[in-house]
Amino acid sequence: MYICINCGTECKELFRRYCPSVLKILKCEKCGLLADKYIEFDPVIVFVDLILIEKPAYRHLLYNSNFKSYWKIGIILWLTESFRAWSFCDIKETELTASEVNLVNNDALQDQCNFYNLLIHTALAFTAFICTVIVVTELKWFIIGRKPYKYSTRDLSHALIVGGCGKLLAFLGIVWRHIASGPYYLLIQGYTILCLLTAYSVVCKSGRGGSLIGLIAGFLLYGYICTSISTLHLNIPNITLT
Ligand SMILES: [Zn+2]
Repeated sequence: MYICINCGTECKELFRRYCPSVLKILKCEKCGLLADKYIEFDPVIVFVDLILIEKPAYRHLLYNSNFKSYWKIGIILWLTESFRAWSFCDIKETELTASEVNLVNNDALQDQCNFYNLLIHTALAFTAFICTVIVVTELKWFIIGRKPYKYSTRDLSHALIVGGCGKLLAFLGIVWRHIASGPYYLLIQGYTILCLLTAYSVVCKSGRGGSLIGLIAGFLLYGYICTSISTLHLNIPNITLT
């Protein structure tokens, strides 16, 4: 079953093919607009609309397209985020003052900047984020009801992976180190949150406010894991040395 990319109503079919070179896109029975205009469009246009955070493009990708490689995007995101954290590790080290360097064991810094450790930490943070959002969403349906007929945890996890692609922009910060400052990464975080809100609202058929409620616990836990792991590494040697 497909959906109309404009209103989200289910459609039995999106187009009719009259001959190999002629097909007609059908209109949605509810809103009267073309059920999925992207069928005739070049994938590049769909990609541009996804970057522009257009809801119809998200609906097309998640429900009407044959795209199945979400796990590949997940792996790319995982590796990119780990590599970003690893590449800026030395910058963090240089920002430490001489007195702090004396307090912090060199082994701990090396441990913190170990790429394999960062891979595990990033995987843990991503898994915790997705699991938390799914649990909170299920709780939300349990408490307030009105669960969409087409909702599934599989679609939601796909939407979270697609929405998280905004983080790939952080890769530019690795190429051009001069724009890898805090405010730049903050902008990427803001853009990623907007993408996630849109993807979540498409799957759960909720507004921006309802989507934020579903995602906020995931954001908090993700932030907590990312910050607590780095402080844990820096605090352990202080405790053991005293
Ligand atoms: Zn419609």
